[in-house]
Amino acid sequence: MLPISFEFYPPKTDEQRTQFDRTVRKLKGLAPQFMSVTFGAGGSTLSQTPETVQRLRDTHGMAGVPHLTCVGGSREEIRTLLGQYRTLGCDRIVALRGDLPSGMARSGDLRYANELVAFIRAEHGGHFHIEVAAYPETHPQAEDALADLRRFKAKLDAGANSAITQYFYNADAYFRFVDDARALGVDAPIVPGIMPITNFTQLRRFSEGCGAEIPRWVQQRARAFGDDAEALREFAADVVAGLCQRLIAGGAPALHFYTLNLAKPALTVLQRLG
Ligand code: FAD
Repeated sequence: MLPISFEFYPPKTDEQRTQFDRTVRKLKGLAPQFMSVTFGAGGSTLSQTPETVQRLRDTHGMAGVPHLTCVGGSREEIRTLLGQYRTLGCDRIVALRGDLPSGMARSGDLRYANELVAFIRAEHGGHFHIEVAAYPETHPQAEDALADLRRFKAKLDAGANSAITQYFYNADAYFRFVDDARALGVDAPIVPGIMPITNFTQLRRFSEGCGAEIPRWVQQRARAFGDDAEALREFAADVVAGLCQRLIAGGAPALHFYTLNLAKPALTVLQRLG
């Protein structure tokens, strides 16, 4: 089996913390390479992301990998967070630009993720393994697909070690992106980000924001199931497991699951993969 990793958001309430602990306990048994914790761009999880990384370490004995965004933050704030993560024993980090929450005007000292990668390298040398984001279906704000690919390469040139992609349901988009990146001289691992499908309405909303396409045939089939939740769940798991099988057969180096702090959707897909 390929290496797998799981992504969580930082729980904020006692109820969310209980669910988080339950989910981590279930997924830990699959021996993931790491568990990562998202960061609210603009600082909305300034204390919760480090707390969750610490919880992974202290309560679950897992190496937590923090996400760090630069948008809206000062160099000093980023420096403080990096120091905290080193103190917590982190040696891997996911470096992102992030998206400024609507209404927040402050853009921050570093504008793009490549500047954040360069900053981390300047401050901490080779200490952190740095992951960056990749977009097989093109980042929604990019000038065009080629410009986006060049921006992606700039992050690796700045010192990133590997990449995790935005989720997608079209394996060809991933394979094409990897081929194009290799042609530009990128040899770093590009790990597909996998979003198990739990709720089509929510997924449609998410996907509009981040530019991920849900294939028409999937949407049409899902619609045909109507209120038959069980049939819909089976179908969704088949679609995502089929995608993973194609990715594995085509040479994906690992799989990174977006869990939304739920164990079952990822577990169902992984069980289908054996
Ligand atoms: P960048 O790589 O900086 O790119 C952003 C856009 O700017 C792209 O369109 C790019 O083409 C363009 N660009 C880059 N450099 C330049 C330049 N010099 N001049 C002009 N244009 C440029 N968001 C969160 O808030 N918190 C998280 O924890 C989080 N985790 C994520 C994890 C993964 C694996 C992924 C794929 C995404 C995650 N995101 C997260 C979402 C991410 O922050 C958004 O997609 C954001 O819009 C872009 O971040 P980036 O790091 O890809 O930005």
